[in-house]
Amino acid sequence: MAKEELECSFCGRKKPETNLLIAGLDAHICDRCIEQAHGIVVEESKQAGNSDLSAELMLRKPKEIKSFLDEYIIGQEYTKRVMSVAVYNHYKRLLQPASDDDIEIQKSNIVMVGQTGTGKTLMAKTVAKMLNVPLAIVDATVLTEAGYVGEDVESILTRLLQAADYNLEKAEKGIVFIDEIDKIARKSDNPSITRDVSGEGVQQALLKLLEGTVVNVPPKGGRKHPDQKFIEVNTEHILFIAGGAFDGIERVITKRLNMQAIGYSSINSGDNVDNDNILQYIIPKDLKDFGLIPEIIGRLPVLTHMDPLDAKTLRAILTEPKNAIIKQYKKLFEMDDVEFTITDGALEYIVDKAIEYKLGARGLRSLCEEVLTEAMFDLPGSGETKLNVTKAYAEDRLSKSTLKKLKAVS
Ligand code: ADP
Repeated sequence: MAKEELECSFCGRKKPETNLLIAGLDAHICDRCIEQAHGIVVEESKQAGNSDLSAELMLRKPKEIKSFLDEYIIGQEYTKRVMSVAVYNHYKRLLQPASDDDIEIQKSNIVMVGQTGTGKTLMAKTVAKMLNVPLAIVDATVLTEAGYVGEDVESILTRLLQAADYNLEKAEKGIVFIDEIDKIARKSDNPSITRDVSGEGVQQALLKLLEGTVVNVPPKGGRKHPDQKFIEVNTEHILFIAGGAFDGIERVITKRLNMQAIGYSSINSGDNVDNDNILQYIIPKDLKDFGLIPEIIGRLPVLTHMDPLDAKTLRAILTEPKNAIIKQYKKLFEMDDVEFTITDGALEYIVDKAIEYKLGARGLRSLCEEVLTEAMFDLPGSGETKLNVTKAYAEDRLSKSTLKKLKAVS
């Protein structure tokens, strides 16, 4: 027998029986053994990762959390601070050893109030990214009470399980972002007039999730798969972040401030109230007056507001965050060996249009897309190596018809 016939040093298969045989210093390994070994590595690291998840999370102090958020989110200083502390305390709570001193740290679920497009979702996403925990983003408007058309609140946990690749332990330490929480506010002040399918009933159903309980969750979601086996999910260590625009809550706040101004309070005259950012004065009672039930407000103890985005902030959003829109375009052009630059004038013009048409931060992206689509179509393969976008170029691209289109969307 030819002595040089090679074989896998792990399973002994001869070279012709394998698809691939890789040589090491003085051993060989076949494709099958590599795959098996890889499986073992993944499994092991999963287990190791899980058991130290909380310890790992705790390594970050509030200031570090804040500086991570700073890399991705412009402005919103107050919310970033509040969020850093809340997240830190949440994971401290997770690590709390069972003690006999009766002091139980409660959950620091968060509610963010702010206009759409001010970065609420981005905030939740960034926190989840930093902590490397699964994140489920759900829209409160699709939730209904059990038995009605729509999704049961348990579907929130189905999403979280999916985000965690069905790793229960990970899911149970994940984050749920409930968007548009304001849309399940009670519609009328008198709860007994009609059954309020999409409002108070959903708030009631959410309560037990927020406070921490074991829920039977259909892993594939809802009602289409009636035969599936339920998974028990404990929500005790899941961090819930709710967000909403709460349209019209400024009126509630202003009314309260005016009443205080008549009585005695720290804000003793309307003079020092910043009318451009009334939301900063929000207190939990305002949420109640808006239509959230007191129990829900109690389970979302950390209340914070998002500042409206002014021109300076929008301008910064275009270029400063780690994955800023302009940086993304630079990278896209770079892949075609095109050096992309944009003048300050053009950036300011884009910001002005976003403000003029009330498109907010979300509009920045669509405006840039409108400005650059033509170049992204023409330049690849053209031999052109430079693109400098000036204000005149941007103006020309955003022809009147385009702006009209954007205006219709806003
Ligand atoms: P919301 O959830 O408040 O409606 P989003 O978080 O979805 O708003 O924000 C929309 C987009 O606008 C995000 O993708 C992000 O790129 C951008 N954006 C909004 N606010 C900020 C901010 N403060 N810093 C950086 N980007 C922002």
